[in-house]
Amino acid sequence: MKTIGLIGGMSWESSLEYYRIVNEETKARLGPSHSCPCIMYSVDFARIETLQHRGDWETLAKQMIELAVCLQKAGADCIVLCTNTMHMMADAVQKAVTVPLLHIADAAAAEARRLGISKVGLMATKFTMEEPFYKERLHQHGITAVTPSEAERDLIHHIIYSELIAGNFQESSRQKMAGIISHLGEEGCEAVVLGCTELPLLVTPERSPLPTLDTTALHAKAAVKWALDKA
Ligand code: GLU
Repeated sequence: MKTIGLIGGMSWESSLEYYRIVNEETKARLGPSHSCPCIMYSVDFARIETLQHRGDWETLAKQMIELAVCLQKAGADCIVLCTNTMHMMADAVQKAVTVPLLHIADAAAAEARRLGISKVGLMATKFTMEEPFYKERLHQHGITAVTPSEAERDLIHHIIYSELIAGNFQESSRQKMAGIISHLGEEGCEAVVLGCTELPLLVTPERSPLPTLDTTALHAKAAVKWALDKA
């Protein structure tokens, strides 16, 4: 099995999920004593968040590149960026390393296609919902992504940065998310992409009015599949 390089800490709440899922998936595929060969470089999210809200994507791109290069040097055979938002610089990161970067939106799109879904709602940080990089990537796979209203996007962003990245999962926020998902359903979305790696910790399938595409789990499982297929 190949070694998975994880860029984590954005936030560590979801990186923990990545670590758990890559190991559980490896165990499910190979047997009970197996676990996943992986290396995680986990950062201090406070610095990242400040740069994001300052709009300093250039510095952030340099940092993501440094981390990916470091993981490759340490022996990683692929790069998994454990956040949707930072895929904004996925192309720059990919150019800086020779191992493949496994794109999170490709994993989400593959699942949508497997389910025969062509129109999805996208719930994520404002960066992911409003910049074109994520919707365009889904579109390349034939998936149309619809984003919530401006007020709803503000609310989702606020909940992510003021609650979820701090490990604070409130019932009131869960209900607000369910309301937004209902609106996306009214717009013809067949499922909702939980396009922030902490969102699946708040919005569980049983509490969602639409089927959910959990990018954390889909990305982590896609990485394990890649690591086994390439071995
Ligand atoms: N983990 C989140 C995501 O998937 C948000 C944190 C970040 O900005 O990286 O986008």
